[in-house]
Amino acid sequence: MPGAPLVCHVLLVEARHGLALIDTGFGRADIADPKRRIGFYRHVIRPLLDPEETAVEQVRRLGFAPADVRDIVLTHFDADHIGGLADFPEARVHTTGDEWEAASSRRTWLESSRYRPAQWEHAPKVVTHGAGGEAWRGFTAAKRLAEIDDGVVLIPLPGHTRGHAAVAVDTGGRWIFHAGDAFYDRSVLQRTGRQPLVLTVQEWFVAHDWPRLRANQERLAELHRTDPDVLVISAHDPALFEHARARGAG
Ligand SMILES: [Zn+2]
Repeated sequence: MPGAPLVCHVLLVEARHGLALIDTGFGRADIADPKRRIGFYRHVIRPLLDPEETAVEQVRRLGFAPADVRDIVLTHFDADHIGGLADFPEARVHTTGDEWEAASSRRTWLESSRYRPAQWEHAPKVVTHGAGGEAWRGFTAAKRLAEIDDGVVLIPLPGHTRGHAAVAVDTGGRWIFHAGDAFYDRSVLQRTGRQPLVLTVQEWFVAHDWPRLRANQERLAELHRTDPDVLVISAHDPALFEHARARGAG
């Protein structure tokens, strides 16, 4: 995004079995050693590497200890979503089996450049969730992560990466649907076709499966249109996230 540093939103959930994070953003180790941890990608996304912005510092500012974060649910393993894992070494890390396999094996050129094994060299406790599941609002393979809370649901949404997923969180009558990088800009939900071209090009360039990503965007637009109980947000759209924050507080 020329002219603006990347934002990557993280959700903190007070779940039944402790705190849970949805994605981590960059972490303290990334700031200490961006060349090794993030690689060339740091020149493309130009993250705002400020320790105060890390999830672990924000958790502390809310009065919690990092060890209170028992679970982390990942939308995918891209560097800007998982760098903070090392700040929560005791947490269980939930992901789809496909995404863990993609990050571990790094089979394609795209996968070997986007995934940064240095970010998980501390050997986190990865819990993979396989194919199959239950229906959730028109999605067929949703997984209720009861070990965290019945109101946390992992929904496979491959396209951006091989095992990308969305995470839905029940905030008490209303769901926040964190779609990760399944889309970037809110215009995708409204089907206005007004997404800036630079974002569409970027979306295409880093997509593992572009037709699938586009098909999923149709489904997300439909969800946004037909289900007022579900607030769909993405990791990198600041306006949508502010909207979710305002509603969550209200
Ligand atoms: Zn991202």
